[in-house]
Amino acid sequence: LAAEEFRQLGYRMVDWIAGYWDRLESFPVRAPVAPGDVAARLPPHPPEQGLDGEKGWEAVFQDLEQVVLPGTTHWQSPSFFGYFPANVSGPAVLGELLSAGLGVQGMLWSTGPACTELEARVMDWLVELLGLPASFLSTSPTGGGVIQGSASEATLVAMVAARARIRRMSPGDAPLVAYASTQVHSSLLKAAMLCGVARDASDTTHVRTIATDATYGLNPEALERAITEDLAAGKRPFFVCATLGTTSSGAVDRLGPIGEVLARTGVTASGGWLHVDAAWAGAALVCPEFREGLAGMEAVDSFCFDPHKWLLTNFDCDAFFTRDRGALLEALSVMPEYLRNTASASGSVTDYRDWQVPLGRRFRALKLWLVLRHYGRQGLQAYIREHVRLAQRFVGWVAQDARFELAVPRSLALVCFRLAARPAEASAATDARNRALLERLNATGEVFLSHTVLPGVGERPTRYVLRMAIGGTRTQEGHVRACWELLQRLASE
Ligand code: PLP
Repeated sequence: LAAEEFRQLGYRMVDWIAGYWDRLESFPVRAPVAPGDVAARLPPHPPEQGLDGEKGWEAVFQDLEQVVLPGTTHWQSPSFFGYFPANVSGPAVLGELLSAGLGVQGMLWSTGPACTELEARVMDWLVELLGLPASFLSTSPTGGGVIQGSASEATLVAMVAARARIRRMSPGDAPLVAYASTQVHSSLLKAAMLCGVARDASDTTHVRTIATDATYGLNPEALERAITEDLAAGKRPFFVCATLGTTSSGAVDRLGPIGEVLARTGVTASGGWLHVDAAWAGAALVCPEFREGLAGMEAVDSFCFDPHKWLLTNFDCDAFFTRDRGALLEALSVMPEYLRNTASASGSVTDYRDWQVPLGRRFRALKLWLVLRHYGRQGLQAYIREHVRLAQRFVGWVAQDARFELAVPRSLALVCFRLAARPAEASAATDARNRALLERLNATGEVFLSHTVLPGVGERPTRYVLRMAIGGTRTQEGHVRACWELLQRLASE
């Protein structure tokens, strides 16, 4: 593509994206397609000849409209309330474009000095913005932050670092065991499978899921019992994953009591690692009033959250921090001849390839840098606070309609709710009504919500619940209100 053609097409593509954002509310939120519909509109064979310059690209723009958009679930729709948000913002998209245009591969400091140093600085900014411990700063003696592709990768990296450390500090053949609440994200199990700690997805001996309390936060006494039992059986507890904001219901594991359990059982002294997965809820830490979950952070070895969920930064961008970068290097450094260079040999630079699974890396810090500069601390705080306020409004409406009930107390901007059980209704029947409601709701194309199943606690049965995750870049009160009114209408029908 000649420079001038690239320029023209680039202007047009940016125009197309801005126009798409303007049109978001005109599309059904969930793609109304069946499996294979999109593939059926694509040629089965690759093109023999390339496009004929700028004019030939007309066909690409047509395909965007006729093939891509009809098969797209519009995560950026202001009425998308499913899963957790996957924020996109103007500054972040421009940062992505810059990263693509610069085309830097920043595996080593020497292959991308700006890529490396800008990333370290932006991660240090995040430590300050979120009120995280100073031991996570890249300027601290042993800590630092790095951008991973996802929270799943962050957990894997934390686990391999933990494994390296426990092998050094408590050598031997005793089996390694990881712990987390029953509500932990599935990426913990995947990480354990990937690094050979768990045999397979059903291995509950080496990845122990611990009971929760009634609010679905990890029960520290149950953790202590499990660890004590494993130590008595000659095993090596080496990794605990605590969650701030669980995927299902936004529950918070209390770090203070968990840290105390690890200290009391001797797990900390033998090299055990406490990782915190704050994939979604971490973004809210930009507001001091949402930092309650940070109590006990002094016992934490690593922490991650996803700016690509709720902090206006395009996927992929997970912010991972550790106070023991040495353990990462121990687990992940391999130095082949072809990568040797004077800067690395000097020991005075950070080579981020040693902090992650892949070798190569994009200049992802650019998008985060632009987001933080564009919005500033105050802009980010206002953004989070508005979503939390909208969730509070939604809770208020649920409380006023006797047909509905909250399933658990609101967590930040996540509301788990459902149609309440009718007198003498079996819980399976209530679940079925809720399932049907969700399907009808999403079939309208006006909004999109997702669901979860919350396990029974005490007298309370297992429950199918709807999740209203507010956090879209463009979501305003009118969208939340419209969703509630639609829910009410369908409940009446
Ligand atoms: N951890 C938690 C608590 C999550 O809620 C999620 C996704 O929703 C993940 C991890 C996985 O995130 P990622 O897609 O960044 O791996």
